[in-house]
Amino acid sequence: MDETEVLIAGAGPVGLALALALTQRGVAVRVLEKREGLSAASRASTFHPPTLDALHELGVLAPLLPGGVRVDRILWRRVDSGAAATIDLGILAGETGFPFRWHREQQDLTPALAAALPAGCLRFGAGVMALAQDAAGVTLRAADGSTHRARYAVGCDGASGALRGLAGIPAETNAYAHRVLRLLTPLDLRQVVPGLDGLGYLYDETGSCSLLRMPRNWRLIFRIAPEMSDAEAMAEDHARARIARFLPQAAGMEIEGRDVYGVTRAMATAYRAGRVLLAGDAAHLTNTRGGMNMNAGIHDAMTLAATLPRVLGGAPEQLLQGWADSRLAVVREALLPRTDSRVAASPAEEVSRMAALTPAEQLVWAREASMLDLARVGMPS
Ligand SMILES: Cc1cc2nc3c(=O)[nH]c(=O)nc-3n(C[C@H](O)[C@H](O)[C@H](O)COP(=O)(O)OP(=O)(O)OC[C@H]3O[C@@H](n4cnc5c(N)ncnc54)[C@H](O)[C@@H]3O)c2cc1C
Repeated sequence: MDETEVLIAGAGPVGLALALALTQRGVAVRVLEKREGLSAASRASTFHPPTLDALHELGVLAPLLPGGVRVDRILWRRVDSGAAATIDLGILAGETGFPFRWHREQQDLTPALAAALPAGCLRFGAGVMALAQDAAGVTLRAADGSTHRARYAVGCDGASGALRGLAGIPAETNAYAHRVLRLLTPLDLRQVVPGLDGLGYLYDETGSCSLLRMPRNWRLIFRIAPEMSDAEAMAEDHARARIARFLPQAAGMEIEGRDVYGVTRAMATAYRAGRVLLAGDAAHLTNTRGGMNMNAGIHDAMTLAATLPRVLGGAPEQLLQGWADSRLAVVREALLPRTDSRVAASPAEEVSRMAALTPAEQLVWAREASMLDLARVGMPS
């Protein structure tokens, strides 16, 4: 049986960030990953300021930064009246080393994190199948037949992972009532939409469209009706009609990729069961609006990495429970309500609501949208 101090299930951005942060604190870790390699799926696009602070602290940000898109201003715009509002994230200078959003594919981050880990601590093809825990530690059995023992195990194995269930932690789940159509275009939408930097929300009286500039293209995001099939949503005539509604001047733009994904809302009812802890999608799922869920998972990882070594070093387990309770409160009281309110925002009123914010209210909005008020919750004092 292989022994280490901390076992991590899942080599997504959260498990790898946790592994690196623990390693840098001198903790021996092993990451067990179900797949045969890192996921190359196109998922998260958005990195918020405190996440950039964390990646900088981990030493992986500098080489990645030039390949991403820096977004200084967010635009809200009515396509019918032309009314607009803008928030400049530069107002966050002084609170973070990175007062901007940064857009880069999630699958560009994970190899950088993995490459920074000590050789041999990441094991592929080793999906966790079984768990046993006792007063001294945790034993995990993986799909490749290997068995691993450690003082703690952390489930960073995502929404479909095994550790939460094996540890007997229930989840509260309810799907949002919509799915999302994502279109990719090489057209530089800054040439089409006045005032657009790297992120824009376009509205008419009843609907909206999000525009995100990525390193190689732009993402256009539309909600689709529950009764529409994925195939109908992706069909050329439907895609063109959605573009024409919000960007009539660019209705013929090249579409180089399209997909549909569902957005789910879920929360584990606890972050800890004995010597098993959770972080990232294993503990929480939100709507992708606002781009918060991976970011919050990385904040789970960074705060846990600051807490766990103390407990390994002899501090009372109560410290770990404090971390678990704090992060659960972040999800319940801020992460989910915050994304819910964005999903529920009235298209007819959103631009005027944002335009009416005072400078002090803009600062509060930017701080909350960036999760600067949440990222360090759970850090030991
Ligand atoms: C289209 C889309 C856009 C998104 N945009 C954003 C965004 O802009 N900003 C944002 O913050 N979030 C965004 N998200 C959410 C983000 O992708 C997730 O929150 C993020 O991937 C969570 O990371 P994770 O490491 O917790 O889980 P995952 O990335 O799901 O990684 C879990 C890993 O565990 C492995 N695994 C599963 N089961 C086991 C097992 N039994 N044993 C071992 N390993 C296992 C999996 O193979 C996987 O590698 C988006 C999601 C989607 C779908």
